[in-house]
Amino acid sequence: MALIVQKYGGTSVGTPDRIKNVAQRVAKFKMLGHQVVVVVSAMSGETNRLIALAKEVQPTPDLREMDVLVSTGEQVTIALLSMALMELGLKAKSYTGSQVKIVTDSAHTKARIVDIEEHNMRADLDAGCVVVVAGFQGVDEKGNITTLGRGGSDTTGVALAAALKADECQIYTDVDGVYTTDPRVVPEARRLKTITFEEMLEMASLGSKVLQIRSVEFAGKYKVKLRVLSSFDDEGEGTLITFEENEKMEQAIISGIAFNRDEAKITVLGVPDRPGIAYQILGPVADANVDVDMIIQNVGADGTTDFTFTVHRNEYKKTLDVLKAVQAHIGAREITGDDRIAKVSVIGVGMRSHAGIASTMFRTLAEEGINIQMISTSEIKISVVIDEKYMELAVRVLHKAFNLDQEA
Ligand code: ASP
Ligand code: MG
Repeated sequence: MALIVQKYGGTSVGTPDRIKNVAQRVAKFKMLGHQVVVVVSAMSGETNRLIALAKEVQPTPDLREMDVLVSTGEQVTIALLSMALMELGLKAKSYTGSQVKIVTDSAHTKARIVDIEEHNMRADLDAGCVVVVAGFQGVDEKGNITTLGRGGSDTTGVALAAALKADECQIYTDVDGVYTTDPRVVPEARRLKTITFEEMLEMASLGSKVLQIRSVEFAGKYKVKLRVLSSFDDEGEGTLITFEENEKMEQAIISGIAFNRDEAKITVLGVPDRPGIAYQILGPVADANVDVDMIIQNVGADGTTDFTFTVHRNEYKKTLDVLKAVQAHIGAREITGDDRIAKVSVIGVGMRSHAGIASTMFRTLAEEGINIQMISTSEIKISVVIDEKYMELAVRVLHKAFNLDQEA
């Protein structure tokens, strides 16, 4: 007998029939003798619908009330799924986040889990009951409803698995695992049987939308065995996220290619090349609460240098305004930017032991005439910023160049 936490995303519970299908799958695991905790998202589109409603009433919605509102989506699906399980003759009981007591901090709309009370769930499980928990929501110490940020049900699933010391956390979604890249861009993309936790973390932070990044961080911290599977396919093994590199079945050097269009680039030209200048530029940006991703400072010539960095595209205008306000103080000649860029990254733990990955990447892009604007690297990834209009081409040629089209 194992204890399994299963999380089902919005499309998997998008209609009453799909909810019944989820109940069937849960029943199969119960039949095998396992204890099952199910975490569900709101029905697909529901969270967006609720957010749009709020904005019609209050253009900048109050965050506490926003959480009261959007948490209703998951309250619907826990009740419906519990009913569907009962229809199959199983014992089931729904819990909102505050009923479990998933305690979070008070950062409305992006709260972090600080504690989970597990004894009620444990008692239900021991009594043979399927425990159905609302994803994405919690409660702060004062009893206010909170939510965990978009896609937060993944984090609920992983956090419950950690708290209950579950044998496995299964994330059911509308794709059947983690792919070498997005199959909508590269039809030859393959499902990975395994991926290491570190690679998954890079994939999630560099643009892959399969798992919410915080859920991956959580899985890493608590060593939760995590598997991504399709809720529409009965046979698949999905993708297992492993902690040991030698557990990795495929020994490809590169595991995947991630991309995103969410960033914009800002260049501060002709700044004096002297100590403190990075702080003078990035200090005001940080004070405006803007996260900076890649940063490049050129080697100075004639006593001046250029400084380029990227921010989220939504914060492009704001960042330009912040810098224009301090331009004279910094002594910069010009401030320019580009919000039509994309970041493309190759990821793989195999990079640690193999040379030449960067040169293969740069040669491949050069052969297509794609100009690289910025480069950043870590031990297991290389990212480049390029013109957005070449993004899909870049992903396709890199996928091929690193032999990801073929079974490893
Ligand atoms: N329903 C929430 C959202 O759409 C949480 C989730 O689906 O994970 O973001
Ligand atoms: Mg989701």
